Amino acid sequence: MIPASFEYTAPTTLKEALALIGDGGKPLAGGMSLIPMMKLRLANPEHLIDLNRIAELNYIREASGELHIGANATHYDIEISPLLMGKCPLLAETAAAIGDIQVRNRGTIGGSVAHADPSADYPAALQALEAKIVLASSSGTRTVSTADFFVDTFTTALEPEELVTEIVVPVEAGLTGTSYQKFLQPASGFAIVGIAARIRREAGKIALARLGVTGVGGNSYRAAKAEKALEGKAGSDAEIAAAAALIGDGIEAGADLHASAAFRLHLAANYGARAIRAALSRSV
Ligand SMILES: Cc1cc2nc3c(=O)[nH]c(=O)nc-3n(C[C@H](O)[C@H](O)[C@H](O)COP(=O)(O)OP(=O)(O)OC[C@H]3O[C@@H](n4cnc5c(N)ncnc54)[C@H](O)[C@@H]3O)c2cc1C
Repeated sequence: MIPASFEYTAPTTLKEALALIGDGGKPLAGGMSLIPMMKLRLANPEHLIDLNRIAELNYIREASGELHIGANATHYDIEISPLLMGKCPLLAETAAAIGDIQVRNRGTIGGSVAHADPSADYPAALQALEAKIVLASSSGTRTVSTADFFVDTFTTALEPEELVTEIVVPVEAGLTGTSYQKFLQPASGFAIVGIAARIRREAGKIALARLGVTGVGGNSYRAAKAEKALEGKAGSDAEIAAAAALIGDGIEAGADLHASAAFRLHLAANYGARAIRAALSRSV
């Protein structure tokens, strides 16, 4: 289908873009989610504000012990970033698991988190990394935690006049290992279930466990009960299986033509155990 007609502006500075967003404009990043929605007339923006020419939103850099990723960084930029591969491999691994090469070339991390698809991959990694998301409007910036940013299905803490400008993740410290494991929908690559694990070992024990989950329910989340079950343990197969079985505990799992709720919960435990084992094996 052909989208309804719309105005189009391509600002080259963030300031200019924020003035237009505040005036009812809808941001366009990679267009990988927005354009199909416009073609299906599920979204009918009157004015598209194309962010692609704003160079100040396109970077991946390290500063003050944190990694800063501009909203315009594409999935492919993140997948091949030597800085991220070295200091936050979970994000590079997760980006590499998104869709296909065309989607990764155009889609951006800012667009993906703003869209908040319940099957998107980044939310699992950002939950496990305890990342921060920087939002800007004409009146200033604010920083929110991943847990506060993802509110519900396709719903975030973004206000209409705000843009996502940056994702901030900590530089991994000590004996920390990470892994992202997903059971994917083969046509699109979207996660039916995706689990990101971040495990730190100290004196032969799991000192910190963070598990981010996507695809199981209507929103990404941290599997807090499973994390608690892992901390203090050595990480035997039995301990990992017992902890992973808690990943879906208390969650209302979704059901659709791809997977029933029971199958999603089964996948969460299995892919959770895989992610924990892989993260542990890398925490050396
Ligand atoms: C065939 C196909 C397969 C895919 N497979 C996967 C997959 O396996 N895993 C996965 O996670 N995703 C997948 N995706 C989605 C893909 O990752 C998109 O890139 C992503 O969802 C949206 O990013 P975008 O840059 O294209 O944003 P756009 O489509 O341009 O925008 C998406 C939404 O975010 C808003 N927006 C964009 N940028 C900003 C910003 N900086 N601040 C505030 N709001 C903003 C837009 O207004 C719009 O509402 C797939 C998409 C396709 C088409």
